[in-house]
Amino acid sequence: MFFTDDTGEALRAAVLLANTAETTDTLITQDDVGTFLEQHPYTGRIDRDDAELAALRDLRSRLRTMLLAPRDEMVDRVNDALSEVPLSPRLTRHDDVDWHLHAVADDRPLPERILVETAMALIDVIRADEVARLGVCADDDCEAIVLDLSRNRSRRYCSTTCANRNAVAAYRARRAAP
Ligand SMILES: [Zn+2]
Ligand SMILES: [Zn+2]
Repeated sequence: MFFTDDTGEALRAAVLLANTAETTDTLITQDDVGTFLEQHPYTGRIDRDDAELAALRDLRSRLRTMLLAPRDEMVDRVNDALSEVPLSPRLTRHDDVDWHLHAVADDRPLPERILVETAMALIDVIRADEVARLGVCADDDCEAIVLDLSRNRSRRYCSTTCANRNAVAAYRARRAAP
């Protein structure tokens, strides 16, 4: 893998969160937040209140813009995020995750920490010049973000649902051809 595990994990979490706003909104209730946190556990402060839910919902479009920005614009957005949040970087090791950086104190609000974690992960993406790993789903009716961490850069769809739907459509098109 060309990115470290924590970078890959931060990108996957950011993409999943941003994509909850696509097609059908799937971040409406505290249970939805719970589902997100089950897939991407965060240490530190989690309020589970309406303000946090609203801030997470608001964060999505910002994450999307950041994740899909061209490289130089991504730099500006990353720098904006880093200048806005009080940083207190330190190495930490918890659960089964080996030493990695937490850039923001654990008692800062969750949406703030997700924003900075995303920015930190995008620093790796920018430095490796791998912005092309992020794009929009190839399905005609889907605007969700695709994160392609595959070795051969083969991922075009945001989900197996979109991949399967297009595989079936392609199969039908081939069969219908004379
Ligand atoms: Zn951590
Ligand atoms: Zn899709």
